[in-house]
Amino acid sequence: MNTTAYNDQMHAACSEAAAQMTAMAAIEPDAEISTVATPVGSWLRDQRAGVIACWEADTATTCQHVTGAPQVLFGAAWKPGHLVCNSCIIQLKTLNPLEEKTCDQCGNVTEDVDTHLTIIGPILYAYGQCAACRANEIPLHA
Ligand SMILES: [Zn+2]
Ligand SMILES: [Zn+2]
Repeated sequence: MNTTAYNDQMHAACSEAAAQMTAMAAIEPDAEISTVATPVGSWLRDQRAGVIACWEADTATTCQHVTGAPQVLFGAAWKPGHLVCNSCIIQLKTLNPLEEKTCDQCGNVTEDVDTHLTIIGPILYAYGQCAACRANEIPLHA
């Protein structure tokens, strides 16, 4: 594939990622696109960097449909290093109620964990965050 075609496909995949909330709703109906800033040193920025590093190092596990071509992918903080296509999103479902109530940031188990989504290029990435961790985030539009 030539570079221009690749870039066009990547651009399309990135745009489509934002439109794919409905697919994610299959496993996380209440998930919303995150609206927090990710300054250097923030937990979410580290998560995003980790996903990119894992992808670039070719150590990510994927469903069988993921090829090298740009496409919308899905990942979750509770399934580190695993990326799937939208048909296989069920693979990201949390396995038990305890996992649902575990904050991916601090590890505390609480009823106050909400699921948020962040977009990393063409990847829609879900993470659970407790109210206390959420309160320490900086809103994007203060
Ligand atoms: Zn798949
Ligand atoms: Zn927390």
